[in-house]
Amino acid sequence: MRLVKLIANLGYGSRKEIQTAIRNGWVTDRQGNRLKVDSQTPHEDILFDDEPLDPAPGMVLLLNKPVGYTCSTKDQGRLVYDLLPDRFRMRKPVLSTIGRLDKETSGALLFTDDGTFLHQVISPKAEVPKIYEAVLDRPLKGDEAALFASGEMMLESEVKPLKPAELEVLSETHVRLTLHEGRYHQVRRMFAATGNHVNALSRIRIGNLDLEGVTEGEWKLLGEEDKARIF
Ligand code: URA
Repeated sequence: MRLVKLIANLGYGSRKEIQTAIRNGWVTDRQGNRLKVDSQTPHEDILFDDEPLDPAPGMVLLLNKPVGYTCSTKDQGRLVYDLLPDRFRMRKPVLSTIGRLDKETSGALLFTDDGTFLHQVISPKAEVPKIYEAVLDRPLKGDEAALFASGEMMLESEVKPLKPAELEVLSETHVRLTLHEGRYHQVRRMFAATGNHVNALSRIRIGNLDLEGVTEGEWKLLGEEDKARIF
C-alpha cells in the first residue's frame, strides 16, 4: 500500500482512485514496468501516466505573484493557488505560503509543505530580509530614511517599535525598502505614517533570492542552492 498512500498524498486522487490507476498499469517505473502496490521503487523513478511524479514532501516553490490574487486557500476571487497545478491543493502535508503578500502586492512569494523550513524563514530570530519596491503617490519629504532606520518607529495600534529598515531612494516617488520583519501591511502602513500613499508595491527579493527567470504568474521549484540564498 506504500505506493497508494504516496501517490494519493501528492494529490493525484483518492486512495481508491490510485488503487485503480495502479491496477490499470498507469503507474510505472522509468523502464515502463508496471508497479505493484507494495513496490519500493524510489520516488524519482516513478511515473504516473508516463510523467514523473510531483516532488516528494519537502518542496519549496517560488511564485511571481501578480496583483489581484489573494494568499488564501478559500477566499472568494482569484487565489495564489489558482496559479499552481490543481493537485497541489490536495497534497498532504498541506502546501502553504511562507508569509503573505496583500492582494494588491506583486512579486516573490514562497510556498512549502515543510513546517520546519517555513518556521526557519518566518522566525523573527532569522530576520530574513525582504526587499520591496514601491511607487509612491507623493514625492518623499526627505526624513523617511532616517525614521525607518531609527528602530523607534511605531505603527498605529502596535506596542513594539519597528526594527530598523533600509530605504533606498530610486527617484522622489520610487523607492526600495528592506524589511527584517513582516507585520501586517507593513510597507503601506510605514508610508501612510509619513503622510504618503503606496500606489504600487512589489517584493523583488527574499534574502538573496530574486525572481530571475520567473515571469509574472509563473513559479519554479527551488533546489538546495536557491533555498540557501534565502538566508
Ligand atoms: N507590506 C505591505 O504593505 N504589503 C505587503 O504585501 C507586504 C509588505
